[in-house]
Amino acid sequence: MTADLLIVGSGFFGLTIADRCARELGLQVQVIDRRDHLGGNAYTEVEPETGIEVHRYGAHLFHTSNQRVWDYVNQFTDFTPYQHRVYTTYRGEVFSMPINLGTINQFNRSAFTPAEARAWVAEQASMLTGEPANFEEKAISLIGQPLYEAFIKGYTAKQWQTDPRELSAEIISRLPVRYTYDNRYFSDTYEGLPVDGYTAWLERMADHPNITVTLEADFFDETQPHHKAATVGQVPIVYTGPVDRYFDFAHGDLSWRTLDFETEVLPVGDFQGTTVMNYADTDIDYTRIHEFRHFHPERDYPADKTVIMREFSRFAEHSDEPYYPINTPQDRERLLAYRELAKGEADVLFGGRLGTYQYLDMHMAIGSALSMYDNKLAPHFRDGKAFADHGL
Ligand code: FAD
Ligand code: UDP
Repeated sequence: MTADLLIVGSGFFGLTIADRCARELGLQVQVIDRRDHLGGNAYTEVEPETGIEVHRYGAHLFHTSNQRVWDYVNQFTDFTPYQHRVYTTYRGEVFSMPINLGTINQFNRSAFTPAEARAWVAEQASMLTGEPANFEEKAISLIGQPLYEAFIKGYTAKQWQTDPRELSAEIISRLPVRYTYDNRYFSDTYEGLPVDGYTAWLERMADHPNITVTLEADFFDETQPHHKAATVGQVPIVYTGPVDRYFDFAHGDLSWRTLDFETEVLPVGDFQGTTVMNYADTDIDYTRIHEFRHFHPERDYPADKTVIMREFSRFAEHSDEPYYPINTPQDRERLLAYRELAKGEADVLFGGRLGTYQYLDMHMAIGSALSMYDNKLAPHFRDGKAFADHGL
């Protein structure tokens, strides 16, 4: 192995590490990915019939309030001024998401002021006492029982197929609740989409003479030159694949959700009038429909064709792509056991959404890679410091 560092996985986490180590430290970096393209789940491709950019692994919206991350990503791409807004269909009626004063007033056929709406929600949440301990309690504490039943319960049943009392409160805390008519999905300082697409951005991160990306190379495939048994202990490794897989599931499987996507080209210029329509009712199997043309109103897309993608969620088996960590109490126990095992891997750092079993957005994956670079990789390569912990 001639490289100074091996990175398993070419998603945002792996490519941020590759960029910093090659451009800042001058290291030779070998990146491997088992897929036939780089970029991980943020990868997008052009649908050939329409020229429309399609997000192969589900729609990816970039947003951050982290100044360092924003400055960092702007080295590689410019952003459009796109602002994400989502609608949800419930019992044949369309409401705006996340829940805001417009949603509350439409739901109640009311004209509540912000203070009246707050009082109404507080009354609908009054059966809860004490700190909310799980997803369901947190959701009811934020929006009250009737809005929870309408907009969250059914969607969450489809998305997670897990008792909402087993799910972490953090999942619902991702969504703001607003007592104004502001219906933006995100509340971050910066938001936008990469002007010439995610793949161009990800390719620019990897475009450096010291970075070699090898595709269709699985770390656990012993016929590959950079497989696990041939590299661990020989070269420092940043591993961004699933942490339970690394340890051969020794402490049991961590549970994940995977998604099935059904993509269709339709002979209409506009299918749903917006980028993302959620479906709150359980008699519709999919959770949401994406219509990709609306992400880039500035582009010259055909007026008579559109691309839509229906998203279905289910439990991931070993052969499926793991997308969402379910993170039940049992998962959290198992993760602690894997954390103990990671201490025995002297030269291996674990990072990213799969490697740390965390629900990371892109800006969080990039931010945590920059921290790993500052706190572990730069001190190791510059001053010979051993890795004090392993990222998990
Ligand atoms: P990944 O992008 O998953 O990259 C990991 C890479 O490791 C993959 O390419 C994989 O092939 C490779 N790999 C795994 N195992 C092996 C192996 N054994 N050998 C070699 N390679 C391996 N974030 C946002 O900010 N906004 C959004 O709107 C958003 N939407 C999302 C929608 C969906 C459906 C999903 C699943 C995620 C979404 N995210 C979003 C999160 C975003 O995808 C992640 O933050 C980002 O992909 C994390 O980067 P990563 O490098 O940690 O992981
Ligand atoms: N959610 C919901 N109804 C919606 C949108 C979201 O119940 O219309 C819940 C659901 O449990 C989801 C969580 O809120 O998993 C977080 O939503 P987000 O849109 O952030 O999820 P992601 O984009 O990661 O799929």
